[in-house]
Amino acid sequence: MINLLIHSDNYRDIIHSLDMNEPKRSQVINRNQVAILGAGESGVGAAILAKQKGWEVFVSDYGEISEEYKVQLEQHNIDFEEKGHTKTKILNVGQVIKSPGVPDKAPIVKALLKADIPVISEIEFAAQYTDATIIGITGSNGKTTTTNLIYHILKMARYKVGMAGNVGYSFARMVAEEQHDYYVLELSSFQLDGIRFFAPDIAVLLNISPDHLDRYEYNFDNYIASKLRITMNQTGDNHLIYNAKDENILKQMAINGTEALTHAVRPSGLKVSDWIVNNEIFNASELTIKGQHNLFNATCAIKAAMLAEVEIGDIKKALRTFRNDPHRLEKVATKNGITYINDSKATNVDAVWYALDAMTEPVVWIVGGTDKGNDYSALMDLVNEKVKAIICMGIDNSKIHEAFGTQIKIIEDTQSAKEAVNVATKYAKSGDVVLLSPACASFDLFKNYKDRGEQFKEAVQKL
Ligand code: ADP
Repeated sequence: MINLLIHSDNYRDIIHSLDMNEPKRSQVINRNQVAILGAGESGVGAAILAKQKGWEVFVSDYGEISEEYKVQLEQHNIDFEEKGHTKTKILNVGQVIKSPGVPDKAPIVKALLKADIPVISEIEFAAQYTDATIIGITGSNGKTTTTNLIYHILKMARYKVGMAGNVGYSFARMVAEEQHDYYVLELSSFQLDGIRFFAPDIAVLLNISPDHLDRYEYNFDNYIASKLRITMNQTGDNHLIYNAKDENILKQMAINGTEALTHAVRPSGLKVSDWIVNNEIFNASELTIKGQHNLFNATCAIKAAMLAEVEIGDIKKALRTFRNDPHRLEKVATKNGITYINDSKATNVDAVWYALDAMTEPVVWIVGGTDKGNDYSALMDLVNEKVKAIICMGIDNSKIHEAFGTQIKIIEDTQSAKEAVNVATKYAKSGDVVLLSPACASFDLFKNYKDRGEQFKEAVQKL
C-alpha cells in the first residue's frame, strides 16, 4: 500500500506565511493583487483561478491577445492589457504568475526580480488550490505521449482524472472549473523554473537532451538543473520514476539527491518479446505506439499507474486502446507501396534517433527547418544504415549538407512540404518509407510543428 502525499494545509500555510512576510522592497505592495504575464492558455487559466479565489487580477501581455482569450477575460471581469506592460500596474502586486512563454530575460521579469517580487509559474499557483494526487511528467522528449498514456490508463480505470499542463488545458483552469481526484500534468522546464514548493506525488523524468538552450544561456547544465526541479520538493512519501540510462539525469541526481522513493527504468533493456514491469508480463505487440522509445514511455506510464493502484487488467486494456496525438510517428498513408510517416514533432536530434531506430525499411528522410544548434553526429550510424536519400526542407540547409554530404549521395533542397513530398516520392520505391522527422523547429517555413505536419499530410493525400 503506498502512501501518496496529499497537499496538506501545511503546504498552503507555508505559501501564505511566506506571502505575509514583510517585503524587502520599499514601495506599497498590494498583497491581494496578482499580476499575470502572458495571456495564452496558461495565463488565462491562472487568471480565472485567481479571480475565483478572491485575488484582484491584472493580466498583461507584451503581444496581441487572441480574440478567444479576450472574450474569456471579459466574461470573468478580469482587467487586462495587450501590446506592452504597464510597469506601474505590475511592480506593486503581491505576486506575479509568469506564463512559460515569457523568458526570464524579458525586461519586465528582470524588473520584478530586482524589486524582489515573487514570480511563480501557473503550476505553482494552481497546486495550492487542490488536494488531488498529482502525476507530473517532464523530459526533453516523450512528455506528451507519456502524459496522454497515463491519463488514458487512469480514465479507462474509471478514475476521476484530469490532464493538463503543456498539453490541452492549463492546470489552473482545470482546478478552477473541474474537480478531479488525480491530475496528470505535462511539465515543461519553463514551468518548473517557476516553482517554489510544488511537488508531484508521482514524478516521471523521461530523459534530458539538449533543447531550448536559447532560454538557458546556451548552457546545457542550466537546462538539466531545470528539469531536475521536478523532484526538488518531493519528500519520502513521493515517487520518482526516472530514466536510469540517462547520464545527464544520473549526473544531476548525484549532485542534488532526492528524498523521493525512486523507480529506475532502463530503456535499452526493454524487450518486445518479453516485456515485464514489476513482475507483470505485458504484450508489447498489442501496444499501439511503436519503437524502443515508446516501449520506454509505456513502461514509465505503467509504473505510474501501478503506483496509483490501477488494476493490471485495466492497464492492459488501456495499452491496447491508446491513440497518441498526431505528428508523432504518425502513419499517414501507403501509396504505390511507399509508406509516409509524419513525425513533425521530432524537433531535436534525439527524437529523430528514435524515429530512425524504429524504421525497418529503407528511408527517404525529410529533415530541416530552424536549426537549434544541432549536432548530427549521433545520427551517423543510423543514417548510413537506413537512409537512401535526404530531402532537406528549410531555408538554410547548409548544416545538413555539411553533416551528411560525404555519406549520402542524394541530398536535395526543397522549400515547402509539397515540394519535399514530391521530391521524396521520386527517390522512394515500393517497400520504402518516406519519413518526415525534421530535427529542427518549423518557424522558417511554417507556423508551428502542427502546421508542418498538416501540410505534409495534405501533400501526401494529394499525390
Ligand atoms: P514532447 O511532448 O516531450 O515533445 P512527444 O511525445 O510529443 O514529446 O514526442 C516528441 C517527439 O519525440 C516525437 O517525434 C516522438 O516520436 C519522440 N519521442 C517520444 N518519446 C521519446 C523518448 N522517450 N525518447 C526520445 N524521443 C521520443
